[in-house]
Amino acid sequence: MQVIRQAAEMSHVKKEGTTLAFVPTMGVLHPGHLSLIEKAKHHADQVVVSIFVNPKQFAAGEDFAIYPRTEAADLALLEECKVDVVYLPTEADIYPDGFDAYYSTGALGQILEGKVRPHFFDGVATVVLALCRQIRPDVAVFGEKDYQQLLIIREMVAALSLPLDIIAAPIIREEDGLAMSSRNRRLSPQQRKIAPQLYQILHWVREELQQNRDIKNLQEEAVKRLLEAGFETVDYLEILCSNTLKPWVSAHSESARILAAARLGDVRLIDNLEW
Ligand code: AMP
Repeated sequence: MQVIRQAAEMSHVKKEGTTLAFVPTMGVLHPGHLSLIEKAKHHADQVVVSIFVNPKQFAAGEDFAIYPRTEAADLALLEECKVDVVYLPTEADIYPDGFDAYYSTGALGQILEGKVRPHFFDGVATVVLALCRQIRPDVAVFGEKDYQQLLIIREMVAALSLPLDIIAAPIIREEDGLAMSSRNRRLSPQQRKIAPQLYQILHWVREELQQNRDIKNLQEEAVKRLLEAGFETVDYLEILCSNTLKPWVSAHSESARILAAARLGDVRLIDNLEW
């Protein structure tokens, strides 16, 4: 496994006539990330994984400084997974002096996560674009865990006509249903017991949708259930069209996605479910 720490070295990885799959991460790798890597292997000759905690997607007061970093353990896991290249850029590699290749997301970046974290998706899209310019992958794999992010990256790739296929990978969960996330390790034992109820309540919403329930009323009841379960705040719980994240009405034949974000102490959990 090649470990690359400088952008200049990265430009030599892509070889004529071979294909490259890219899995961007912020490290603290868990089976969710590893499932993306396995998927990537099926789509290209070589797999590049990046680990970069992107300062541009954290606002002041968010958890950038305390975001966990476990480089040695991550490298050991990637070696075991037989990844070809790990890219560990510094901030100066991604954002050199004079960097101005910012990507600004449209309406899709302003709702849900974007409403709570206003510059978040511009930061995510900008770093993915910068990484892709350096790595030049043919395919990139993103998890449905960050469902809105997946759609935004797809939209950016289409808008810029990037020669890149975006592949989606399903959410990997703990046995009790909690979606795996690097942030879960910051949950106290008590919070960890409450956390799976986010998934269970999304499930309940999905079952209720089969009974043709009024959407607004169902959303309100689900938020109430989350608060009763012990979540301190619920940033959103929405039932939206899967492809556009526009309001979904039951008469639509289009599939829906139930998406939610809720907080336990200072840990913010997100999850979503297809309907
Ligand atoms: P992160 O390191 O949190 O930035 O995530 C890197 C990639 O892994 C993103 O595409 C995430 O959507 C994906 N990912 C994170 N957690 C999971 C999970 N539990 N299941 C599937 N993909 C995930």
